[in-house]
Amino acid sequence: MLRRKFLWGGSEEKDKINWVAWDVVLGSKDKGGLGVGSLYSLNLSLLLKWLWRFKNEHNSIWRREVCGIHNGYRKPVIGLEKKTLPGVWFRIIKAIPELVDIGFELSSIFEIKVGSGENTLFWLDDWLGGGDRLMPGFLCSLIWIKKKTCFVADRMAPNKLLWDWKKFPRNPTEISELCLLSDLVKFTTVSEAEDKWRSKLSGDGVYYVHDLRRLIDDKVTIPTLNPTIWLLIIPLKINCFIWRACMDRIPSAVNLARRGINVGNTSCALCNLGTDEADHFLINCPSTATAMGWIFNWCGIPIQPFSSVSDFINFAANWGHCPKKRRIFIVICYGLLWCTWKARNDLVFNKVHISLLKMADSVVTMVFSFIAHRGNFGKINWANWLSCPFNIL
Ligand SMILES: [Zn+2]
Repeated sequence: MLRRKFLWGGSEEKDKINWVAWDVVLGSKDKGGLGVGSLYSLNLSLLLKWLWRFKNEHNSIWRREVCGIHNGYRKPVIGLEKKTLPGVWFRIIKAIPELVDIGFELSSIFEIKVGSGENTLFWLDDWLGGGDRLMPGFLCSLIWIKKKTCFVADRMAPNKLLWDWKKFPRNPTEISELCLLSDLVKFTTVSEAEDKWRSKLSGDGVYYVHDLRRLIDDKVTIPTLNPTIWLLIIPLKINCFIWRACMDRIPSAVNLARRGINVGNTSCALCNLGTDEADHFLINCPSTATAMGWIFNWCGIPIQPFSSVSDFINFAANWGHCPKKRRIFIVICYGLLWCTWKARNDLVFNKVHISLLKMADSVVTMVFSFIAHRGNFGKINWANWLSCPFNIL
């Protein structure tokens, strides 16, 4: 709630309408959000880091402390906690079923690399991979074995298995299960190294909180049509405006009327023909289309019809083959939409009519200042810029 108030409180609008669903805002930029990330995903990912550390920091004092309190040495991961002792460690382990509920099995996040086998439970840890533990998969083993909490090191020696039978397998079912089990484990060899839990989410096996956090956010947030293109060259308010305009979440007359605000006339102030909504006055309005034609002509790019703001931005994001030129073109498109919005607001609220020529001029000047001051293109020649924006390269 605090973060929500902070984000919307920074907006220029005083009406405090939450224009974009919070679950969209939280999503990654790839999914059309602002990459804010949910606290829910951060919390779960941080909790899991403790489990990863527990499994890798075998000799740390805190780990010994936890094991001492919860008798955790010979317990499977879920069960590491003593249920009569609620507290921090209890909460950490409870993160595991929560993750499973939203589709993240532990085996999809970690793999166990057996070294000496002294910290990996033979029957209860998923050390063979694939998400299955040997118990309870091998039902007969429940009858045979003396100790289900034995470690891999207790059962495996170089080139042979060390069984500790309660009852020696005799009938055909038990013997075939024993053969199958021997086949499964025969490629594993124990060594001097320590057992490790490696993250499957990173290239180096280290567990990073942001890896899991991003995956959880992708699951629990709402994706939109286009990825968010957030340009550092451009002021925050323009980035935010374009992001919202692509989703038709700006205070146009039609949108305000939809939210029960009496705005009187909902026709487009620029042409009086269409309606005052983003896709019209930013893209399809005859006045806007004329200014857009000039800007495209200046860029040397053939104009084409666009159905919506999102379609227009999508075109810019995929235009051409040169990344530098494309970046300049996207900034120009952002500038064009922003100046059109300003011109529309001047007309609606101040009754000031800005000519199309002046509006197009302001796009050229404004984008030049962005590129010159924040674009990392070196010194830019104004005359070159005026002839064609890509001549500055
Ligand atoms: Zn219009």
